[in-house]
Amino acid sequence: MSVKIVALEEVTRPIASNIRNAYIDFSKMTASLVAVITDVERDGRRVVGYGFNSNGRYGQGGLIRERFAARLTEAPPASLLDETGDNLDPDKCWAAMMTNEKPGGHGERSVAVGTIDMAIWDATAKIARKPLFRLLAERAGRTADPKVFVYAAGGYYYPGKDVAALRAEMRSYLDRGYSVVKMKIGGASISEDAQRIEAVLAEISGQAQLAVDANGRFDLETAIAYAKMLRTYPLFWYEEAGDPLDFALQAALAEFYPGPMATGENLFSHQDARNLLRHGGMRPDRDVLQFDCALSYGLCEYQRTLAAIRTAGWSPSRCIPHGGHQMSLMIAAGLGLGGNESYPDLFQPYGGFPDGVRVENGHVTLPELPGIGFEGKGDLYSQMRALAA
Ligand code: MG
Repeated sequence: MSVKIVALEEVTRPIASNIRNAYIDFSKMTASLVAVITDVERDGRRVVGYGFNSNGRYGQGGLIRERFAARLTEAPPASLLDETGDNLDPDKCWAAMMTNEKPGGHGERSVAVGTIDMAIWDATAKIARKPLFRLLAERAGRTADPKVFVYAAGGYYYPGKDVAALRAEMRSYLDRGYSVVKMKIGGASISEDAQRIEAVLAEISGQAQLAVDANGRFDLETAIAYAKMLRTYPLFWYEEAGDPLDFALQAALAEFYPGPMATGENLFSHQDARNLLRHGGMRPDRDVLQFDCALSYGLCEYQRTLAAIRTAGWSPSRCIPHGGHQMSLMIAAGLGLGGNESYPDLFQPYGGFPDGVRVENGHVTLPELPGIGFEGKGDLYSQMRALAA
């Protein structure tokens, strides 16, 4: 048997909503959806791998059509296969896509490649007739754990939203089984944000924990002022205080904030991740790394990131990726990450879990579906199937 990628389709779709964080609004947000179509059949159906990019960066149709799709579909098919010749080799596919790309400058390119990489891994696991998390665990010589910690991200600013609405939103996450919730800060004055935090803590008291996210908004002075305010509350973490590449700011903050801090969702390569650990003063006993494979060259690159964090003395269990997609759930269950973000009310149909999966005590249990399991989420799969047809 042999495997051939016969086509790669892309469509850029709106995932707009009427929300904003401290930095951007999402009224014009888009995402790329891709289908990698193979010539393999499983259970009477052609194997198609699907992928999409995480929210927060825009669709990548231009880059995918102009560079990355053609490098895959025009590569000699045998050059993309594993040693058995019976399946794709995602690392070889990745190398083909990155032909003639200079090092550095990780930006939108990493999103385009990450989107396609997701589809390649989906196809590879489907051809192997396994859930991706089981394939990953096997290859790593680990035991898979289909039970994954998830937390509810929300608490955005939007027009007309008052503290009562914020409390009701957080309460609804508790009602849906979450034990950790997250809200935005930095889009209002510091005193207003303190009031918002106190209101949410009063609402969830004793039943859940609260994380806060500044989305990279603060300069050093503001980040420290917030640290002094935030450290008076028992928070789950203080996320992305300053610019993602300002490692000196992140390092300085540790002096003012003894509790857990989280960052990394806007670092798009293993080299940038490594620099954060070298220069950002992050503490491996309490801090959290949020690199999101769907924005940062995919799982092939994420495995290099995991190697880099291990070298720096970190455990993969300190990683809780940004993005709320099923790909990171697969990696968490297969490679032992600490959990995954989730947006219960946003960015549908891309985010979330297969139909019927419920959050219980802040965890989900992944079903045994081949590939990433997109076929188990009806609203998402209907869009995917339309693209492949
Ligand atoms: Mg964030």
